[in-house]
Amino acid sequence: MIPKHLPKAEWLDNPDVQTIFAVLDGQAGKTRAVGGIVRDTLMGRWRPEADIDMATELLPVVVMQRAKAAGIATYPTGIDHGTVTLRLNETSVEVTTLRRDVLTDGRHAQVQFGTDWTEDAKRRDFTMNALYCDFDGTLFDPLKGAGDALNGRVRFIGNAAERIAEDGLRVYRFFRFSASHGEEKLDAEGLSACQLAVGQLDHLSAERVGSEMIRMLGLPKIALTVAVMNEIGLLTLSRHDLAAVLRYEVLGGHSPSARLALVAAGDIDALQTRWRLSNAVVEAARHVADAAALMAEDRVVLGVYRYDEDAVEGMAVAAAQNNWPRDRLMEAAREISRLPDPKLPIAGGDVVARGVAPGPEVGETLARLEALWVDSAFSLSRDELWERLGR
Ligand code: ATP
Ligand code: MG
Repeated sequence: MIPKHLPKAEWLDNPDVQTIFAVLDGQAGKTRAVGGIVRDTLMGRWRPEADIDMATELLPVVVMQRAKAAGIATYPTGIDHGTVTLRLNETSVEVTTLRRDVLTDGRHAQVQFGTDWTEDAKRRDFTMNALYCDFDGTLFDPLKGAGDALNGRVRFIGNAAERIAEDGLRVYRFFRFSASHGEEKLDAEGLSACQLAVGQLDHLSAERVGSEMIRMLGLPKIALTVAVMNEIGLLTLSRHDLAAVLRYEVLGGHSPSARLALVAAGDIDALQTRWRLSNAVVEAARHVADAAALMAEDRVVLGVYRYDEDAVEGMAVAAAQNNWPRDRLMEAAREISRLPDPKLPIAGGDVVARGVAPGPEVGETLARLEALWVDSAFSLSRDELWERLGR
């Protein structure tokens, strides 16, 4: 049974959201919430950090004027395709004027504004993503996607192959949503259309693909999806790396950095280029990979000292990559939990007190002391350290 109303949801009760609905004629049905927030509320899996998207019959200039007049901050974040971001107190809403794609070349769409809700729904990707709701939570479902959402069926709107030809990114989105909202089941028509499209996706923007992949890599369960993506040639993991992705998941891991380290299989630079990943994302994955390498050499203490929290993920990655028996993993985990928080027993002031002139030499001396101390597995005392340094 498909409910007429969404279940009660905190975001719909938020007075700022209600103000925005009111300012944009929500009561008259001219503005509705759309996409992920409606789908996830219907499925009972809404989270407070979710973005709020709205669709509206009002033209972007009207949205801007109305919002400004009501004291709501406006940002023309995607004004070319009709998107204005509104911010009221803590609430931020992306409002997009109803549109129809009139020309698509596989990457960009030329849009035409309109007032036809069904046209707006049809240009979206999956039936579960074309759900709308009114200010009072009344569900509006022009393409009958609610049943698919409730059954976790990720189905393309219209002909899957045609929709992929319009925008190849939908291949990646198909796998991502099947992993997040479909328990990794894959709709047969969607899968075969994706399979046929592989090889024609090279022109896709690296950044868009990377962003989908990173979102996917942070999901709880992706190993089966990754295996299928690999089988059809979207990924090129060896059997060994694929097995490690699965084992990591069986161990209960779902850190995107660890997953990235696993699928990068030693070459994070190559993935950074291929998916135009941000330096921060790459850096985090590199820490986990480096920690994993130390763990694999049994240098647990050093791994924890250098990588702190990433060391725990590093350990899970090492266990997955090297197929550690459970006992070894448990032993390493116990070792981590027993470790004191090691702190170098010498500070800058001590170095100066020993006669080093304040300046860069202090830092260099500290670095040498730290290296000696780390090499001793943090066992050397203050005096022993000075002795080793020859002072
Ligand atoms: P999430 O919770 O992952 O953010 P979402 O459904 O909000 O899920 P977004 O990527 O934020 O996903 O996109 C918002 C909406 O825009 C989607 O629900 C879908 O209707 C539409 N959409 C996004 N990308 C595409 C695309 N490439 N092709 C067609 N429609 C798209
Ligand atoms: Mg979203």
